[in-house]
Amino acid sequence: MKKDCVFCKIVAGVIPSQTVYEDDKVIAISDINPVAPVHVLIIPKKHLGKLEMLNEEEMEVAGYCFQITPVVARAKKILNEGYRLVLNQGENAGQELDHLHLHLLAGRNLEGMG
Ligand code: AMP
Repeated sequence: MKKDCVFCKIVAGVIPSQTVYEDDKVIAISDINPVAPVHVLIIPKKHLGKLEMLNEEEMEVAGYCFQITPVVARAKKILNEGYRLVLNQGENAGQELDHLHLHLLAGRNLEGMG
């Protein structure tokens, strides 16, 4: 757990969240400021930083975040209609929180890069 990390506090239960899915490695929660009707954050329970900083074991956990997306999509009932995954890295991507996480967006037409 990293001090002053919002997602570490959510994992620890210190900050409340709306949990969509949880297992021993990840937690998936509703984004507090959704940009689509379905906006879920898939967050590794261990504090992971940028992709280039990850060791092999941590990279497996990052990969697991992708692996679990169909389970989350099914839980939100949007598996068949489709969804977008976003992983922001750094300033130009607009990354706010440095704890690695995936955005799962769905529920409207997301064509284009915007
Ligand atoms: P990023 O810009 O990729 O770092 O995304 C961080 C995301 O975390 C943003 O979409 C925020 O709306 C979301 N967020 C920040 N604080 C919370 C919170 N307490 N609960 C749920 N989502 C949050």
